[in-house]
Amino acid sequence: MEDIKSKECFDKCIICSKTEWLFVGKREYDINEHWESDKNKARKYIFFNIWHDKMSLEVYRYVCKKCGFILDIPRPSEHDLDEKYKYLANVELVGSIEGISQKSKKLEYLQAVKVLNLVKKYTKIRREMNILDFGGDDGHFLMPMKKRGHNCYVVDYYKNTLKGIKRLGNTLTDIPLEYKFDLIICRHVLEHLAEPKKLLIGLRDYLNDQGLVYTEVPMELYKATMPNIDPVTHINFYQKKSIELLFKFSGYEVILNREKRATYREHKMSITQTLARTGHIPITETELRKSFLETKNLIYPNYFRTFLQYKHDPIFMLKVSLKRIFKNKTN
Ligand SMILES: [Zn+2]
Repeated sequence: MEDIKSKECFDKCIICSKTEWLFVGKREYDINEHWESDKNKARKYIFFNIWHDKMSLEVYRYVCKKCGFILDIPRPSEHDLDEKYKYLANVELVGSIEGISQKSKKLEYLQAVKVLNLVKKYTKIRREMNILDFGGDDGHFLMPMKKRGHNCYVVDYYKNTLKGIKRLGNTLTDIPLEYKFDLIICRHVLEHLAEPKKLLIGLRDYLNDQGLVYTEVPMELYKATMPNIDPVTHINFYQKKSIELLFKFSGYEVILNREKRATYREHKMSITQTLARTGHIPITETELRKSFLETKNLIYPNYFRTFLQYKHDPIFMLKVSLKRIFKNKTN
């Protein structure tokens, strides 16, 4: 039998470019197994037919010892991801907000207003802005921006863009270089990309002098010792510090980086919000080390980390505490 602990990974880290990895765990995928839901049939097809052409496959999870980034091997390439989105755009209305509940639409609108208010605190621009939502589905998140007179654009594989929003193409290379933006929103995108650093570097060419990039990324590393049940939807897993490093390695100065409870469509979740502008800020060994330790603490949480994780859910916290006390008493 193969000793998986000695399995080495020779890939370069997509954030820091180093090749030192700590093996964390693995998951076996089989074409005959059920995944979470019917929605995942399409993802299953992508995984076993488009990406791998195999009936079963093992995926290994590693942590970059230098910067704390998580890597699952085999990892889909940019081409694989392109094929994935083209396929999904055909088989389901990926990106569309049509058919989702009124409540979701309202929550998306409210979140967009919050983002706009947040950006206003950090930008000196007082005229109407050019705003791009990169990976912004049908452009629904830009509705409050449009109502306030800003010029709104979207880049996404989904083609039925809402009225008043201009669609510039599927992906970065489709955007004509004469377009410059005051704000680029990249919400729940960085966890889906083969080359997130390449995207952030590429976006710099489309920013005005005072332009800002705003991102939201879900926090999913808590106890994540093995690849996800669905290995197709998200392929990158971050924590607050590793996102900051991703921006710094891509030539940005991070001006806001915070973890928050927020909505994405009808789901409430922990996210990291980051706001950045172009700039070259030195990266220290200390912050790289801090990021690695943070990833490790999330994957193998101690009691204090568990407390932090669920501070928004006191009832769950109470249950965890009682369980611990009970367990200690019986031991
Ligand atoms: Zn790294």
